[in-house]
Amino acid sequence: MKAKSLVIVESPTKAKTIGKILGEKFTVVSSMGHIIDLPQKKLGVDIEHDFAPEYAVIPRQRKILDELKKEAKGKDHIYIATDPDREGEAIGWHIRENIGAKKKVLRVSFHEITPAAVSSAFKAARDFDLNMIEAQVGRRLLDRLVGYFLSPLLWKKIARGLSAGRVQSVALKLIVDREKDIQKFNPQEYWEIEAELKKPHSTHSQFLAKLEKIAGFKAELKNKEAADKVTVGIPGQIFKVTEVKKSEKKRNPEAPFITSTLQQEAFNKLRFTAKRTMMLAQQLYEGIDIGQDNPIGLITYMRTDSPRVAPEAIKEVRGLITKKFGADYLPPKPNVYKVKKLAQEAHEAIRPAFTSRTPESLKDYLVSDQYKLYELIYNRFIASQMNPARMEMTSVDIEAGIYLFGASGSRMVFAGFTAAYDKANDDQDKPKKELPPLEKGMALDLVKLLPSQHFTKPPPRYSDSSLVKALEEDGIGRPSTYAPIISTLLLRDYVRRIKGYFTPTELGQKVCELLSEYFPKVMDVKFTALMEEELDEIEEGRLGRTKVLEDFYAPFKTSLEYAQQHIKKEVVFTEETCDKCGKPMVVKWGRRGKFLSCSDFPRCRNSKSITSGVKCPQPECGGELIERRSTRGFFYGCSNYPKCTFTSRALPQEEGEKEKPAEPTSQD
Ligand SMILES: [Zn+2]
Ligand SMILES: [Zn+2]
Repeated sequence: MKAKSLVIVESPTKAKTIGKILGEKFTVVSSMGHIIDLPQKKLGVDIEHDFAPEYAVIPRQRKILDELKKEAKGKDHIYIATDPDREGEAIGWHIRENIGAKKKVLRVSFHEITPAAVSSAFKAARDFDLNMIEAQVGRRLLDRLVGYFLSPLLWKKIARGLSAGRVQSVALKLIVDREKDIQKFNPQEYWEIEAELKKPHSTHSQFLAKLEKIAGFKAELKNKEAADKVTVGIPGQIFKVTEVKKSEKKRNPEAPFITSTLQQEAFNKLRFTAKRTMMLAQQLYEGIDIGQDNPIGLITYMRTDSPRVAPEAIKEVRGLITKKFGADYLPPKPNVYKVKKLAQEAHEAIRPAFTSRTPESLKDYLVSDQYKLYELIYNRFIASQMNPARMEMTSVDIEAGIYLFGASGSRMVFAGFTAAYDKANDDQDKPKKELPPLEKGMALDLVKLLPSQHFTKPPPRYSDSSLVKALEEDGIGRPSTYAPIISTLLLRDYVRRIKGYFTPTELGQKVCELLSEYFPKVMDVKFTALMEEELDEIEEGRLGRTKVLEDFYAPFKTSLEYAQQHIKKEVVFTEETCDKCGKPMVVKWGRRGKFLSCSDFPRCRNSKSITSGVKCPQPECGGELIERRSTRGFFYGCSNYPKCTFTSRALPQEEGEKEKPAEPTSQD
């Protein structure tokens, strides 16, 4: 039977999953992403005429477009089933505009690739959402204007081949500012004194209490002398419980995942980078073969900022909670989570497509990392519809002469949602130990005193988790942009991820400095957040695209003209002299990294690599390792290249250091 309808999606896996669901009456093909975009080599924005985009077919997509056109011919119906967001809407619209069959093209969108969701989406096929497309075009044009005009300034001042971006520049600033805070941080010494106590004549009742007050004032011990004075004074005092306070504390479950929280938890619990998390989530969403060549989408769409859950899914999960955990664990009414002001009402949280498919039942069909992420999403969703956990909190005051100690403990009364899932603990949230039963007036024995030295700590560097959290809190970026922002910063070697934490490179600091000096608005967090809000307003049909671009461009152009006149090449002299002409060498940045060049360039063309001082580990090479940049990011290469092709992401001795016991760092 020849198919009468054509369905176009953006990825081959998705095409396969949907094809299985729809059957033989439909031909399902993939566009492999966008087919048209702004041109590579020119601005592609007609500033004089309402910032009209000058789109062109992406060269590598020409063949695919021809195939789509061929498939479209003679079909009665054409459906575009790209992802349910701005990007998907725009990809679909551009396909519609270019396959020469505009009239019969309809849009279908669904948040999960399951038979039920796909078939109801086809019943509700609709026209394109033009406001959504306008918002996507607006973002693309803003990013292009910034990138196109700022990059040449970076070339002029620092090095050719660098590029600037609107949103990632603000993210770079967060990382650079944090590094400055860390560098100027001055650690302060302080001491804590804990007492190990027990009930008299008891061997199993030891617990720790911390010194809190001395003669009614907060105990602040700044050095060893101060701590010593106290440790001498305490023994011989009588320890007595003066107060026992008990209270019950409820802990509510967290909302089911949205993109930002999924990325944070996957990093905190599984150490997955934002990019890895999104890649795995996409695989689970697009379809996994679960036997009999039957691919099926296992989770809902992974780019979302709404914790909303479809009523059918709530019904399913409530049944499962009663069955698996018992009626005590089920709240009388479903838990409802607050939707953020600008979140897409129609969107859904990231949840399993079928609660009946437990992680355990899918173990044979998922690779290890897919399994771990599915389990995380599954359990978090179940927990989100369960009752709160109840804890009994105990806090105890203990007096010893003028010294006041405090101890606290907690006991789980009812596990509630924690029976299914608990989020990764941050420090404040660490579960406390249970205290032995204590009563007011009870005397205690001192087992020993434990004085300890501490230093105040600088703020920690950003990780994938804390950076995504900061971007979200600041209103920068959107579910589709968190992971790409991080990837771009790494690719350009503006920051490096060292043991999971981001450190800006010298290059990243220079770029940040230049942009902050000449383009304070582009680097301003509040301004960037405002632009994101305006894009959301375009999507809601409350603001015109041209107006947003005009408002941005006028002040941008003023800064740009000033910068073009004032930015000069920066010359950094070094101690080294040229071995050809004796003049001093200067630092230059090239496409592939930093190097030394004779200051008499172009008369003397002598140049030299800056080596790391670490020998190339290749046997009998004798070269030294040099920092390099490529289109795939930063690496170390050999000074004997091309004779020796050794490369490494880290210096060999850095890798060796992992074996040694970790030295105290600011992240501890
Ligand atoms: Zn020279
Ligand atoms: Zn070598």
